[in-house]
Amino acid sequence: MTSWRELQERINSCPECKRVGSGLTLHCEQPPARPPAPPAGSVLFISEAPPPQGGFWTKPSVKDDLREKLIDILHVFLQEQNLSPSGMRIDENLEKFVSMGLFLIQTIKWPLCHSARNLRPAERKLIEHSIISHLVPELALIRPSAIVSLGKVACYACGCMFSECGFSFDQSQKLEAVRGKRFMVKMGDCPDIPVYPTGLPVRQQQRRNNLPRIVQEIKDVLRRHWHTDRKSFGEIIPGADGA
Ligand SMILES: [Zn+2]
Repeated sequence: MTSWRELQERINSCPECKRVGSGLTLHCEQPPARPPAPPAGSVLFISEAPPPQGGFWTKPSVKDDLREKLIDILHVFLQEQNLSPSGMRIDENLEKFVSMGLFLIQTIKWPLCHSARNLRPAERKLIEHSIISHLVPELALIRPSAIVSLGKVACYACGCMFSECGFSFDQSQKLEAVRGKRFMVKMGDCPDIPVYPTGLPVRQQQRRNNLPRIVQEIKDVLRRHWHTDRKSFGEIIPGADGA
């Protein structure tokens, strides 16, 4: 099987991302920061695309709106679990995030000129290319224990990947119809995987006053997949996921 590093190198040199993404993606001198090797069985967040500054996996010295918001949600969650915030502090050091059984990948692998959430035909083509060439092999290596799709683009990608096996979502649907719910999907020989659609926790949603609901929906997922004894998220212990 192809290694994680090979998959990421393939993304960085993929001619189809450039061809299909022509007019949609921004030219960048440096590829966005790519995720490190994932721990198997993690709770996987799927976002839309990296911003031009490099995105979620850049060094903490580079600001990233999504990372800031996700880490904030985690802090609040851990405090609510009565865990010492200092002992469990993740900061923006992503090693802790990964070691706790959390992971994140982006649907589209390159920064976009504009959000693709309207799912126009050209945007759908780029998402579909990314699914076949990049997301499916990434998921096969990650073998997530749960998937949280953040925003309409990630939701559409999950709808394409799992339409035959538990979750469908096409361009005519509204996120409202599926968000906050759980859909059990099948992926290869993995046990059934829950998919939780919600919105992207970013500043723009704050302006629209959507953020509190997204925060709540993400915290609900964390609660379901948090293992108090192991102090980590992820791989399902039968009967312990609150399902
Ligand atoms: Zn590509």
